[in-house]
Amino acid sequence: MIGGATRLVVLLGDPVSHSLSPRIQNAAFEAAGVDGVYAAMCCSESDLAGLLRGIARGGGAGNVTVPHKQAAARLVDEPSETVLATGACNTFWLEGGRIHGENTDVAGFRGAVLALLGRSAAGLRVVLHGAGGAARGALVALASDGAEEVVVWNRTVGRAERLVTEVGSRAVRAARSASELEGSTFDLVVNATSLGLKDGDALPFDPVKLHDPGAILDLVYRPDETALVRRAREMGIAAADGGEMLVLQGADAFRLWWDRPAPVVAMREALERSRREASGVARK
Ligand code: NAP
Repeated sequence: MIGGATRLVVLLGDPVSHSLSPRIQNAAFEAAGVDGVYAAMCCSESDLAGLLRGIARGGGAGNVTVPHKQAAARLVDEPSETVLATGACNTFWLEGGRIHGENTDVAGFRGAVLALLGRSAAGLRVVLHGAGGAARGALVALASDGAEEVVVWNRTVGRAERLVTEVGSRAVRAARSASELEGSTFDLVVNATSLGLKDGDALPFDPVKLHDPGAILDLVYRPDETALVRRAREMGIAAADGGEMLVLQGADAFRLWWDRPAPVVAMREALERSRREASGVARK
């Protein structure tokens, strides 16, 4: 029950009403028996600093989502190495009187790769589609885990080139055209674009055009299977959507807020429940 000592944990972003994090985190708080409540707040960039700092200094904590992750990275007192490497912060909390920031999307991405492949990205050849915030976290994880080669392809080529320059790893390069990827063999293909979120979206790429893509990880998640995951599975390619990454980035945030391991099973169950309910609503 909410009481005087209940800790407020918030999601700050715009929009936030579609987010599944409140369902996943409140299920985790209940399963772990911690005295907290997780709520989403839609906020503008001009209100971000006041909300983030005020909530943390009042003993609360939180997550930050699109479009404020980069602004949050500049606001926290103690950005982690991962926040500095990605320039983005999605988790904050107060410790020793200072506001700490972490980017748990990187740990979430690593965990999703491990769940899909049964191994890390070390030594793998990877194509990364997209050059926005999600791609940035994925690229930092892939480069620091020792991927042999990561080719970044984005609709806006200049953005992919900037991302590659900023991450600054010898294993990473930007493709100048989609046809550069055709006929090459990759162990893992990642979709970090927002294509696939909406009904009727084009596929971010056609797996048929890639020679022998070992596995496909779509960071997009929906109540039902994404079109890319469906296409990959039809072709017999191992594939997963962004559900596991969502749970694991949330589990890492839980660990930082409460200084104990997250109840990951309860979090996965909450995600699946929310998806079943949402697909029921979508069918009605
Ligand atoms: P973002 O910063 O807005 O970047 C969007 C990316 O998608 C850019 O590379 C953009 O290309 C590309 N894109 C958008 N529309 C396109 C189109 N019509 N054709 C081709 N490319 C297009 O967004 P983000 O934060 O990186 O998020 C991307 C996706 O990842 C979202 O669906 C989000 O839900 C998902 N995500 C999942 C998790 C998880 O935990 N599973 C975590 C974070 C994000 P341009 O540069 O050319 O515009």
